[in-house]
Amino acid sequence: MPELPEVETVRAGIERFVVGRLIVSVEIIKAKILRNPLVEPHEFASRLISARFVNARRRGKHLIFGLDNGYALYAHLNMRGQFVLVADSSVPQAKYLCIVISLDTGSELRYHDIWTWGELRVLKDTCEELVKYVPALADMGPEPLSSELDGEVLKKRASSRSKSPIKVVLLDQAVVAGVGNIYADESLFRAGVNPLRKTGTLIDSEWAALAESIKGVLTEAVASGGTLSDNYVDIEGSAGRYKPDVYGRAKLPCVQCAEPLFTARTGGRSTVYCAICQK
Ligand SMILES: [Zn+2]
Repeated sequence: MPELPEVETVRAGIERFVVGRLIVSVEIIKAKILRNPLVEPHEFASRLISARFVNARRRGKHLIFGLDNGYALYAHLNMRGQFVLVADSSVPQAKYLCIVISLDTGSELRYHDIWTWGELRVLKDTCEELVKYVPALADMGPEPLSSELDGEVLKKRASSRSKSPIKVVLLDQAVVAGVGNIYADESLFRAGVNPLRKTGTLIDSEWAALAESIKGVLTEAVASGGTLSDNYVDIEGSAGRYKPDVYGRAKLPCVQCAEPLFTARTGGRSTVYCAICQK
């Protein structure tokens, strides 16, 4: 699933190439991805047509594109959603196309989703409306790339889950926003914390190291346009360039000690770690 760095890269692409543009038409190919409150294709499209994109925001893995008519286009890519901007309508349509948003430049913002698990909404651009239809936004943890996150905040947010493995707790969006399987594994490796540790056993210096590692890993991944994956391209169609130290490297040598990396199942997700470097 696209995580904070990938979603942030998509957001930055929309900000750079789409904000300021007027929507001239909307074609809905797979209405399954339209979510409340406007699930009828003609209603959904009519809110967008003739509106101009005025901003591109992100909270955790949620995208919110403000429009000049008081509405916002909300998007959650979930597992496989992708926005791609193409130069014009002559560009052949790729498989799994769900929506085409045609812009006044002649370019098209196309949304693809192989599993159609993504979510698109048109909402009034107010806190009340966003939280009403996307309740997860209400109790979301701190943004890791802001000053809101430090070791103390992370410890406090995780305090009700002291018996759960720290890996599982880091995936909880109410603990910290935007971290998923890739960057939880990477952050735990960098902090030297074993992902299977019960959260209640972490000491203050480990919480501080973990908060710093989350910030460091995510900052580097944003700068690299996210991680290479079948699930993700940026809006120009480019793959991520971040190279994980542990994620996706089970049984390969640890970059620090050269011993083979271990793999485990935690909370239904695979976890890769070094049993020697991570205590
Ligand atoms: Zn190691």
